[in-house]
Amino acid sequence: MKAAVLVAREKIEVKEVEAPQPGSREVLVAPKYTGICGTDIHIYQGEFEGRVRYPTIVGHEFAGIVEEVGEGVETIAAGDKVCIDPIIPCMQCTACREGNLSACKNLKLRGVDLDGGLAEAAVVGADQVFKLPERVSVKDAAMVEIFSVATHAVRRGRIDPADFVVVLGAGKLGLSILSVLKTIGAGTIVITDLQDYRLDTARRIGADVCINAGDKDAVKEVLSLTGGRGADRVFEAVGHAEKSVSGLPPIAEAAEMIRNAGRIVVLGQGPDMAPVFWRPFVWKEATIVASRVSRGEFPRAISMLESGLLDPSHIVTHEVPLEYVPDAFRMLAEGAEEALKVIVKID
Ligand SMILES: [Zn+2]
Ligand SMILES: [Zn+2]
Repeated sequence: MKAAVLVAREKIEVKEVEAPQPGSREVLVAPKYTGICGTDIHIYQGEFEGRVRYPTIVGHEFAGIVEEVGEGVETIAAGDKVCIDPIIPCMQCTACREGNLSACKNLKLRGVDLDGGLAEAAVVGADQVFKLPERVSVKDAAMVEIFSVATHAVRRGRIDPADFVVVLGAGKLGLSILSVLKTIGAGTIVITDLQDYRLDTARRIGADVCINAGDKDAVKEVLSLTGGRGADRVFEAVGHAEKSVSGLPPIAEAAEMIRNAGRIVVLGQGPDMAPVFWRPFVWKEATIVASRVSRGEFPRAISMLESGLLDPSHIVTHEVPLEYVPDAFRMLAEGAEEALKVIVKID
């Protein structure tokens, strides 16, 4: 089979490799569409070395058709249209044993720790496979993973009706969070970014206020929009940001703009320490929670796609064939403007 194989740092080759075989309780899937994630680019740049071994087939956001099922698989059959939840919890650690699978201490991801979906075939565990309803296309289903991650974050945020919500960062994840927020009746939604192109996309998805944090101080803007009260909820989906007018790292911006007893959800994975001025934060008695991958949100994301509540077409900006994967990674690693989600079509 043909696969896009990461053979060394910043080196992906599309080549023939041996096709995997499904074992007991496993399923052989032919991926038809695989999304390229920000994490994939970090992997490509060597930031996951130690966890990712070369050669590895990357790609953890994928949907396709079941080709073959292994022994003991009864709920899925060859020909089924499916998407894949890439996470593999250990089921042994304390977090797993209390049901917090997304916080697993030994969490593995297909496409990170194990071969993934940028290939003509992939073997996955039967419990990682979700059957798609008639009305969800395989292409849209490649977005189920990121929408599940966004749904998990929104649930961690415990949004109340009419909440004033700020999303820091209008990248793929920030825009996915915005898309999910639009489905649940939040009040005003503000989104910030440094690129106008992304903010235009946010406006199309339905953001009420878009702030270019390179032109304006996002903290001052949010405080002024709320009459000095601050935001009810803030999602930090940036990690590392440069050139913002506030001069603060995103988590510090969130801490400054949150209201008393408000709630911050952190998804950004910046490489640096980020200082926060804790005294005013303590006086606010605000809450910070982290949100990692997803936990049980796949069926919800699938049904939101089925009912048309989510529209992936705003976020998917490019569709490329498997042969183009090395160029796509190079382009994304160089920080291509006007590129959000790049989806790989595998024939
Ligand atoms: Zn991802
Ligand atoms: Zn675990």
